[in-house]
Amino acid sequence: SQNEMKLIFDARSVNESFARVAVAAFIAELNPTLDEIADIKTAVSEAVTNAIIHGYHEPEQKVELLCQICGDEVSITVSDTGAGIADVSKAMEPFYTTKPELERSGMGFSFMEAFMDRLEVVSEPGKGTSVHMVR
Ligand code: ATP
Ligand code: MG
Repeated sequence: SQNEMKLIFDARSVNESFARVAVAAFIAELNPTLDEIADIKTAVSEAVTNAIIHGYHEPEQKVELLCQICGDEVSITVSDTGAGIADVSKAMEPFYTTKPELERSGMGFSFMEAFMDRLEVVSEPGKGTSVHMVR
């Protein structure tokens, strides 16, 4: 099967749960297991939270979530046009965080990596970040 949806929403924390529920509803046609749904929701949640917390400082700015179904594969891209990341491989290391004062644990990318089959992060300081995940 083939299907695609795109959501654009404000960079507000209330939209984190909206984003993960929307993806879960969209992929229902694939009859995923409860474990698969939970894994994908966690990965989406981590990526969207990062865009909101690290990418932006203003809640009016927009996060874009693209979700594509191709065969039995789900492809998800979460993008922001915010701060960007200077050193992506360092940012992806377990426990690396630039916001320890907010009690972040630096595990977001590690969860995305663990729960999805593929993870690709493209980022440029001052331009934004795009997180592409496949499961
Ligand atoms: P946690 O996810 O455990 O709450 P965290 O968000 O700091 O903590 P990661 O999600 O692994 O940990 O991200 C690591 C670091 O990468 C962040 O601290 C931040 O510096 C940077 N980062 C991640 N996503 C973005 C983004 N969308 N824009 C700018 N910087 C980002
Ligand atoms: Mg995070």
